[in-house]
Amino acid sequence: MRIDLHTHSLVSDGTDAPAQLVRNAASAGLDVIALTDHDTFDGIDEAKAAAQASGIGLLAGLEFSTQRAGASVHLLAYGCDPSEPALRDELAKVREGRNGRVPGMVARLTELGMPITIEDVFAQAGGSSLGRPHIADALVAKGYLPSRDAAFRDWLYEGGPAYVDRYCTELTRAIALVRQAYGVAVLAHPWARGRRDDLPEEFLADLVAHGLDGIEVDHPDHDADTREALRGIAGRLGLLATGSSDHHGLGKVNNPLGACLTDPEVYAEIVRRIHARGGCA
Ligand code: AMP
Ligand code: ZN
Ligand code: FE
Ligand code: FE
Repeated sequence: MRIDLHTHSLVSDGTDAPAQLVRNAASAGLDVIALTDHDTFDGIDEAKAAAQASGIGLLAGLEFSTQRAGASVHLLAYGCDPSEPALRDELAKVREGRNGRVPGMVARLTELGMPITIEDVFAQAGGSSLGRPHIADALVAKGYLPSRDAAFRDWLYEGGPAYVDRYCTELTRAIALVRQAYGVAVLAHPWARGRRDDLPEEFLADLVAHGLDGIEVDHPDHDADTREALRGIAGRLGLLATGSSDHHGLGKVNNPLGACLTDPEVYAEIVRRIHARGGCA
């Protein structure tokens, strides 16, 4: 069984429609994928229908934008009931924050010599969750920059010249909302891009007490040493250790579908917990 539990469609900042993403996963020889768009469940119905047609499994998910002491932390949620009001309302607030920062970033980029409009950015978005990758796409479409990667490297990175902060849910509250919606909570790429100091083992231990189920260990942004260290922590803390590609279609180069995989027994345990809690798996 080849299981990839973290992928994005154009409903957020991937480049494939949910149904196409699922077909690509089937062609890539995957047996199960989770669709985990940023802060929205909007692609799930389409992905589920496509998964049924393609004969692969689709786990409904989401990547929740959260923060801890001002630092951005991504939380994967699996099997949540999307109609649970507290989670639904909080996600709407996070998406409003995504849209609300666009005018500020557009103004900065215009001052920096790369004039674009809010409409240019919205024209790049294929769904309900708008992010910096769409701003990058607008800059590429104008011919200012060659790629999303270049846009992030020079302008859009956290704290960068064109960066404007946005609202994100406090991490422990986000875990509570996921659990309240009967879901399973897994910390995404916890030590990617030098984040090791933001989330030390003591802090991860505290999150277990708040209801965290697992951590993403095998991820393209974790090197071999990082994976080994995280696997050790997962073992000590009793956390599930998952693996995934964090595929974004053509939007990210190092994340082909199936780049990293989740152990079938870990996947079975995630599904078991979702069923036990009354979620949707
Ligand atoms: P935002 O959602 O607006 O906070 O933007 C963050 C998103 O941009 C994350 O989903 C990342 O996957 C994506 N991202 C970060 N760095 C890059 C990069 N260098 N190239 C493409 N996408 C990126
Ligand atoms: Zn993304
Ligand atoms: Fe992420
Ligand atoms: Fe992601």
